[in-house]
Amino acid sequence: MDRRSLIKHAGVAGVLAAGVAPAVHAQATIRWRLASSFPKALDTIYGAADVFAKGVSEMSGGKFTISVHPGGELMPAFGVVDGVQQGTVEVAHTAPYYFHGKDETFAIGTAIPFGLNSRQLTAWFYDGNGMKLMREFYDQYNIVNFCGGNTGAQMGGWYRKEIKGAADIKGLKMRIGGFAGRVLERMGGVPQNIPGGEIYQALEKGTIDATEWVGPYDDEKLGFQKVAKNYYYPGWWEGGAQLDFYINKAAFNGLSAENKAIVEHAAANAHTTMQAMYDSRNPAALKRLVAGGAKVLPFPRAVMDEAFKQSMGLYEELSAKNANWKKVYSDYANFRRDQNLWFRFTEARFDSYMQAAKL
Ligand code: CA
Repeated sequence: MDRRSLIKHAGVAGVLAAGVAPAVHAQATIRWRLASSFPKALDTIYGAADVFAKGVSEMSGGKFTISVHPGGELMPAFGVVDGVQQGTVEVAHTAPYYFHGKDETFAIGTAIPFGLNSRQLTAWFYDGNGMKLMREFYDQYNIVNFCGGNTGAQMGGWYRKEIKGAADIKGLKMRIGGFAGRVLERMGGVPQNIPGGEIYQALEKGTIDATEWVGPYDDEKLGFQKVAKNYYYPGWWEGGAQLDFYINKAAFNGLSAENKAIVEHAAANAHTTMQAMYDSRNPAALKRLVAGGAKVLPFPRAVMDEAFKQSMGLYEELSAKNANWKKVYSDYANFRRDQNLWFRFTEARFDSYMQAAKL
């Protein structure tokens, strides 16, 4: 009688009597905790962590579970890198660019102004050198990273007053995601790094003059249209903003090969799902916002040009003083050049034709 039929026919008592442990005791249950940087109300960006946890649980037959906690519950929204680095939690779900103050190289993991779009960034991570280079970088923080969603190109945010030229950026107090604040500062603006759950209050109280978050679907939920009507595009600082799952290195290395693969594939599914949710839900939200009085406006060319110039100047300066940045950015910049050379022939031409066509 083989082991399987022994278990089937003899029952637990018989198996124990025969000196064979029941299969259920062969694999220990793994329970991890995930700290998100986002509020639970945002089913897109916060939801990616739920998609990830659900995937891990289902693929492991319930033997590996991850509890998901919103920003502020286990630790502050911006405390999650320290949390994973120190092993307080096994996983974080966050936007790497929040941590550009530790090292500017973090920003490349989310988005840098005039960087790669969503498709291109995924290509750099999955098939270019992105994953290898960022893994090397995050190793200093005891982190193993996985792509954890992308918002796609973002809107440029909500402004109390219209932006008619580069001069209107001077003195503008604006909540802007992470690293882009460095460029806003060079343009004379005053950037504020505020977690998603706390922005509305700051805008309503007048602590800030403007804010950006992601795009119509999320922004509508956060309610910015109630206090600032001018809705600008595009978010030149986030042509495709990526989120990451950060996993504590010792916790990840302690997993079996099977569980490592489960984590990898659950993350890949969460990565794709988030982009799909934004693409699918943004159009209807934009229509509702416009119907509610939002004024949708393009940034003037002069503002875009000034932002571009300041961004490239910043990257040159960083390459001269931050070796991590130089190493990762030089590969990223080459990839960006070739991607734009390729996308202009197919994607851009096809998209611009379709968007002008009467459908
Ligand atoms: Ca943003």
